Amino acid sequence: MASSTSTSTSGGSPFEYAPAPESRAIVDLKPSYGLFVDGDFVDGRGRSFKTISPATEEVLAEVAEADEADVDAAVRAARRAHTRVWGRMPGKERAKYLFRIARIIQERARELAVLESLDNGKPIRESRDVDVPTAAAHFFYYAGWADKLEYAGYGTTPVGVAGQVIPWNFPLLMLAWKVAPALACGNTVVLKPAETTPLTALLFAEICQQADLPPGVVNIVTGAGATGAAVVSHDDVDKVAFTGSTGVGRSIAQAVAGTRKKVTLELGGKAANVVFDDAPLDQAVEGIVDGIFFNQGHVCCAGSRLLVQESVYDELLDRLKRRMSTLRVGDPLDKNTDVGAINSGEQLQRIRELSEVGDAEGAERWEVACDLPTTGFWFPPTIFTGVSQAHRIAREEIFGPVLSVLTFRTPHEAVEKANNTPYGLSAGIWTEKGSRILWMADQLRAGVVWANTFNKFDATSPFGGYKESGYGREGGRHGLEGYLR
Ligand code: NAD
Repeated sequence: MASSTSTSTSGGSPFEYAPAPESRAIVDLKPSYGLFVDGDFVDGRGRSFKTISPATEEVLAEVAEADEADVDAAVRAARRAHTRVWGRMPGKERAKYLFRIARIIQERARELAVLESLDNGKPIRESRDVDVPTAAAHFFYYAGWADKLEYAGYGTTPVGVAGQVIPWNFPLLMLAWKVAPALACGNTVVLKPAETTPLTALLFAEICQQADLPPGVVNIVTGAGATGAAVVSHDDVDKVAFTGSTGVGRSIAQAVAGTRKKVTLELGGKAANVVFDDAPLDQAVEGIVDGIFFNQGHVCCAGSRLLVQESVYDELLDRLKRRMSTLRVGDPLDKNTDVGAINSGEQLQRIRELSEVGDAEGAERWEVACDLPTTGFWFPPTIFTGVSQAHRIAREEIFGPVLSVLTFRTPHEAVEKANNTPYGLSAGIWTEKGSRILWMADQLRAGVVWANTFNKFDATSPFGGYKESGYGREGGRHGLEGYLR
């Protein structure tokens, strides 16, 4: 791939890097995949769809598209498993399965990481060092809770059957966020992965078989929005857990309103990363880069709005551009790649359109000049300066490697601008003053506030939003609440 065999920048970097690709031989791709229902892979009754590598547009596999009858079969299997086995099993026995799954994820970590990067387009460095270890950590962490639920404070009775729908940005990790607490509490699940990234969920189904998980405890139904709608609206689903866009989250909230279903929604975000003039600027630059270019910016809590105190604006922007010029865009399987492929043609189109709106609104675009491959879906790391709060690029989630830069003079102005968004998922603060960190954390309407760091995730820590970023928490003790009565 062009950008991984030469320097990826026009910033005058003197280095030429040799490619360091991870071998994909470890992944055993099947030409086609069925649904995982009641402990077995079964053919779907409906149609099938192709999942491709967004870096090359190569077709990776043909995947079954579950229709309503398939979803119904999966929910019935989950109900049976809940009533007969899983819901009655003592917590300490359930814990053994979760520990076993966690260990198998670790044992098969390389396979999972390569498959995730192939299907999603994210750099192998991230799938290997973040997605897969954090997914294993969630199973380890919730395994520990399974026999201690009486100490969590949310009761000990499982809800029953959980219908779970997840997005494509962290396919395995989002699965772990959903499946681990559900199983720890004694629920069974029907999970639908995103249509562009079904493969690690299907490999996880194999891991469930390898762990001897009783049939029906985990069911995986692949498909697009209609399959997801069939899962969340099924009458025999007791709990709906959704991660995805605010628009779809809203329609799900409407669909389940008035039913007895419990719901948690993890939706979009437009986080402010606020840099004060006393911040350690080099560290702040690393945090800004991590905040918006990690996972190509396909991160719900991405720091997509940079708020810089005016007095350090010029210096910070200079350093940021210099740092961005060293980012390597290219082959997701190359271990030196920092920024991989955009997950799909549709997402690339959305990023392009919103960026063009930024141009039309009068913001100034600066992008890293790099050799982008001619096949696949790519977008260079980009910043917009001269952005005002009214601009759409400051208000709407771009969900790509695009940063909008605004300025402020006083801490109060920073808070006002940071909170001026329909979302409330996360925020970052960069300053040397501890008292200011505490004051800002108190003022910011965001579920997670990072200080002098960004994008730190831990299984023990709850994550979730305010306002249009959704409701309910995942991770930590709080993550048990949605799965218990
Ligand atoms: P999306 O809402 O389009 O799709 C998410 C999932 O919902 C997919 O599996 C999709 O097939 C399914 N779906 C689509 N229509 C549905 C319907 N009517 N009923 C049920 N399911 C349906 O979102 P996306 O584009 O895949 O993901 C990106 C979005 O996810 C961004 O907005 C991002 O901020 C958000 N996200 C939020 C979090 C969080 O924790 N808050 C985490 C990751 C992603």
